[in-house]
Amino acid sequence: AAKTEERNAFRFYSPRMQADARRRIALASELRKALADNEFRLMYQPTVEMRTGRIVAVEALLRWFHPQRGLISPGEFIPMAEKLGLIRRIDQWVLQAACEQMYEWDSTGLPPLRMAVNVSANWFGQANFVDEIRMLLEARRLSPARLMLEITEGAILRLGEEMERTLHALHALGVSVAIDDFGTGYSSMSYLKMRAIDYLKIDQSFVAGLPDDGSDGAIIEAMLTLCRRLDISPIAEGIETEEQHRFLLRAGCVEGQGFLYSRPVEPAVIAQLLTPGRRQGNSHLRLVPPEA
Ligand code: C2E
Ligand code: MG
Ligand code: MG
Ligand code: MG
Repeated sequence: AAKTEERNAFRFYSPRMQADARRRIALASELRKALADNEFRLMYQPTVEMRTGRIVAVEALLRWFHPQRGLISPGEFIPMAEKLGLIRRIDQWVLQAACEQMYEWDSTGLPPLRMAVNVSANWFGQANFVDEIRMLLEARRLSPARLMLEITEGAILRLGEEMERTLHALHALGVSVAIDDFGTGYSSMSYLKMRAIDYLKIDQSFVAGLPDDGSDGAIIEAMLTLCRRLDISPIAEGIETEEQHRFLLRAGCVEGQGFLYSRPVEPAVIAQLLTPGRRQGNSHLRLVPPEA
């Protein structure tokens, strides 16, 4: 009966919507096989210390290279993976691959960076989450201080009470936690009182309006004051212009990420950027040309 209903419902969709729906259904079944078929890759986007332009961290960003459809953005397949119950396995794969990458960079003598990894609420909310993180780090002999987990406000609020325990356990382990896309969710902010949040990533939607949009400027200044008072380190996302960079630096933002410094790039490019001698001094100019 459900099937007939579904079929009838299709009559109300335009051909465009039908095509979209068909693509989603196909992608969903292909997503189930993508891990096993080795179709995922990680790209890494540098985070710089704004004052000096020095690379202090990289964020692992997932890419799905579909054999027929080409590159599919995480904006499309992550929400799908969440709905299908696949996100936990994908997040585990990402964390493991990111740890292996750190290990590899370390063994070639590159300066140690912080590695930022996005995690979804589905995995973060699991009882044994912190144990799994600890084991992954131990397997690669990585110091927990090297890892930063990014979680969105929405995810934090969805998790409720057990989340507080998880945050404190991560803090005790020495792994840092960042609130991603700060300002776009329900900013209840009560979780900031727990003193278990180390970084706030200011969402790119606020950075986009700088320096001319007075509201964005005011909101960012307020966020930076909040960070200072709570001893949380701010990271601005989506910095694309030198004007945005200058505004944020003057307003006291500590770290930044965005196309101005670098797009997400292949691991080999990160290695080049970090190789002594090639490391850029204290300029804040473009580190690498934009992704092709
Ligand atoms: P996010 O964690 O907030 O990542 C930042 C996104 O902004 C990335 O898009 C990045 O490429 C993009 N970005 C960086 N600098 C700029 C800039 O200057 N201008 C503009 N316009 N965009 C910029 P991406 O890689 O498409 O990722 C989108 C989202 O997908 C991420 O947002 C994150 O929420 C999610 N995601 C990505 N990888 C993973 C993953 O491994 N696991 C999970 N659970 N989620 C992931
Ligand atoms: Mg992120
Ligand atoms: Mg973000
Ligand atoms: Mg985002």
